Amino acid sequence: MRDLALGAYRRITIKIGSALLVDPAHGLRRDWLAALADDVAALAAGGSEMLIVSSGAVALGRTVLGLERRTLRLEESQAAAAVGQIALAGAWAAELGRHGLTSGQVLVTLGDTEERRRYLNARATISTLLKLGAVPVINENDTVATSEIRYGDNDRLAARVATMMGADLLVLLSDVDGLYTAPPARDPTARFIPLVERITPEIEAMAGDAGTTLARGGMRTKLDAGKIATTAGTAMIIASGTRLNPLSAVAAGARATVFRPSADPVRGYKSWIAGQLEPSGRIAVDAGAVAALIAGKSLLPAGVRQVTGHFARGDTVSITGPDGREVARGLVAYDAPDAVRIAGLKTAEIAEALGYEARAAMVHRDDLVLSRLIDRPARYAADARQDAED
Ligand code: GLU
Repeated sequence: MRDLALGAYRRITIKIGSALLVDPAHGLRRDWLAALADDVAALAAGGSEMLIVSSGAVALGRTVLGLERRTLRLEESQAAAAVGQIALAGAWAAELGRHGLTSGQVLVTLGDTEERRRYLNARATISTLLKLGAVPVINENDTVATSEIRYGDNDRLAARVATMMGADLLVLLSDVDGLYTAPPARDPTARFIPLVERITPEIEAMAGDAGTTLARGGMRTKLDAGKIATTAGTAMIIASGTRLNPLSAVAAGARATVFRPSADPVRGYKSWIAGQLEPSGRIAVDAGAVAALIAGKSLLPAGVRQVTGHFARGDTVSITGPDGREVARGLVAYDAPDAVRIAGLKTAEIAEALGYEARAAMVHRDDLVLSRLIDRPARYAADARQDAED
């Protein structure tokens, strides 16, 4: 399949799971890392710009500190990450260095991609590294990240990085070799899916365990990463990293699932909005409002049925249709209490309800991105006509 010819991509982000890099009994799998560095160097020599998102700081730190056997308290995993990260970065620098490649360590916290100003700053640093010919080696800054304010998984972090940097490919290497119709460990009849054109609700159902924290790092977060990536025009490949030289294996035809990028990707500012990891609130709207959003209009308070969550003006909210599914995301123009006050009101009634002159839109079209999940726009239009007739 042409999508698997890795050398054809211009800028590639590779995400490596902890279990591949670290053996709990013996520490860092140096031979495996050396072979992966060979693959990375071969792609770089072919002209692809390479970015690495490497997990393994906590896992490696645990083996170094002799803490493998029990559940760690937050401050212990932060300490383990500090010990593990320095070793991890050193190993990457040494292995890429054998090929004459310079690496640069970049540690990010959630705010570095979710706050616009910091996002632009991180992007400038990483793009300077690429311009200088260095390979960015990126991880979450686990030493200072606390449980509430962290990515928690490197799949979504890698997707955020890949889209932030305009990569045309994201490869997720872990111990699974792709997407199956059901989790193969539990369902022997599960079939392998080689190609996903679009992440529909049917595809999402294949991941199982939707929304549980146990699924973090599993197929659920990989599909979340896929949505972020493909919406912004980045293709994604899920491939097994359990063999040596997993990237050459993919290019040579090893089993892997390809997620095609959107043919009509959102870019720049809008891709930052679309890829926000945790919207701060939810605005449920009627079918008429969904049809208006699909037609490219702003979200007006009149079409809003319900407002949930604690958000401030400028935060990201998820906009859901009558069936509860997300239809768009955007930056909201009101604080939550005001949004509640004007939900359902016509434009002429807003100023009186709030006691001040305010903007008409609850989410302005310039700050709004439609979800790729909207599969049947025509249905919303028909429901809206029905609503209008009732
Ligand atoms: N940032 C974590 C680490 O390096 C790993 C998170 C993940 O594997 O998804 O230990």
